[in-house]
Amino acid sequence: MNLHEYQGKEILKSYGVPIQEGVVVDSLDKAEEAAKKLSADTGTEWYVVKAQIHAGGRGKGTVEETGSKGVVLAKGLGEVKNTVDGILGKHLVTLQTNGVGKKVNKVLIAEDAYAPDFDACSEFYMSVLLNRGTGRNIIMYSTEGGMNIEEVAEKTPHLIFKEEIDPKVGLQGFQCRKIAFNLGLTGTAMKNMTKFVAKLYAAYVGADASMFEINPVLKTGDDRIIAVDSKVTLDDSALFRHPGFEDLRDTSEEDPTEVEAKAAGLNYVNLDGNVGCMVNGAGLAMSTMDIIKLSGGEPANFLDVGGTADAERVAKAFNIILKDPNVKGILVNIFGGIVRCDRVANGVVQAYKSIGNINVPIIVRLQGTNAVEAKEIIDNSGLNVYSAITLQDAADRVKELIVD
Ligand code: GDP
Ligand code: MN
Repeated sequence: MNLHEYQGKEILKSYGVPIQEGVVVDSLDKAEEAAKKLSADTGTEWYVVKAQIHAGGRGKGTVEETGSKGVVLAKGLGEVKNTVDGILGKHLVTLQTNGVGKKVNKVLIAEDAYAPDFDACSEFYMSVLLNRGTGRNIIMYSTEGGMNIEEVAEKTPHLIFKEEIDPKVGLQGFQCRKIAFNLGLTGTAMKNMTKFVAKLYAAYVGADASMFEINPVLKTGDDRIIAVDSKVTLDDSALFRHPGFEDLRDTSEEDPTEVEAKAAGLNYVNLDGNVGCMVNGAGLAMSTMDIIKLSGGEPANFLDVGGTADAERVAKAFNIILKDPNVKGILVNIFGGIVRCDRVANGVVQAYKSIGNINVPIIVRLQGTNAVEAKEIIDNSGLNVYSAITLQDAADRVKELIVD
């Protein structure tokens, strides 16, 4: 699950990571009041207004309707309101929005963290994430902050450092100091960066995140270290350990089909391919996707319907798969262990009839309890459904589908 910048910052703050104070608003009316409160709390007259969307590159992005950038500095209350008006409720295009404007439902109004001594500021890059190759968390960091880190990685990879953390002992003090040293800091700034790294890592571990990316990390003119941006991904499998986190989900930022599938209790992930698949069990789903690939196709989705593959669930799953216009055919691969194959077969036939307008071929492979009876049900249904018993047979049918 991805978070908005302001949500990531709230988590950071709760772990003692310094951030600039800010207020998030969802209407123009609240903007001035929010800025006033911010001014009363912090004494600032300099603000930064930031579009809250699940995409980076906002600073260089453009609002379609007004031409405003997605991150804009504003001086004084009047300017704040005008600036918010140029962004809120409009559509922002950035390098990460695939050419489509993303609707901005909320903006963050924050104190300008770089004021008053902009020239004495420096920007760094820092992220904590899991290195799946070694199974260890790493801290990636660079002196080249504030800019496109992918570009830094490509053109000047020697400017990106990595610090790997041994899970047995956790992040050590000497590692935090090494990071601050490698970033070229001394004195108070070095001390503050050392603390910053330790707290950032504690936030990452404590929130069960799979990524915390802070770009830029700011060193102010008076040597404070502040997280100016935050891009956070939480580990969905650990959400149950954090009762409040589910409320942070913004479904308007998620794939609508995936949201619908989740509400129906289906484990669905949309992919780019052309063969839909419906399977019970995640392991079988993975191997079914392999079969599709080996047969020359590309899976259009991952879909685990779970243990009870009854007519209603099967129909729901078909509906969800068929929403994808790239789907040329569907492979149903169900193992009848807990659920009997004949029941699933009846479910498939019923679902097919109830949907009515399925115009892609369906290959059904049912194996396990009552597989033979199930095959008969499919074969006698008179529908555009092909039944396969062996995996090889199913794979061959997928191949035919792709060639056609
Ligand atoms: P992103 O473009 O989506 O990554 O959004 P950021 O939050 O990183 O902001 C983009 C850029 O705007 C940063 O790299 C900074 O250079 C600048 N910026 C962000 N916040 C402030 C601020 O409070 N004051 C000033 N002066 N610049 C800021
Ligand atoms: Mn950024």
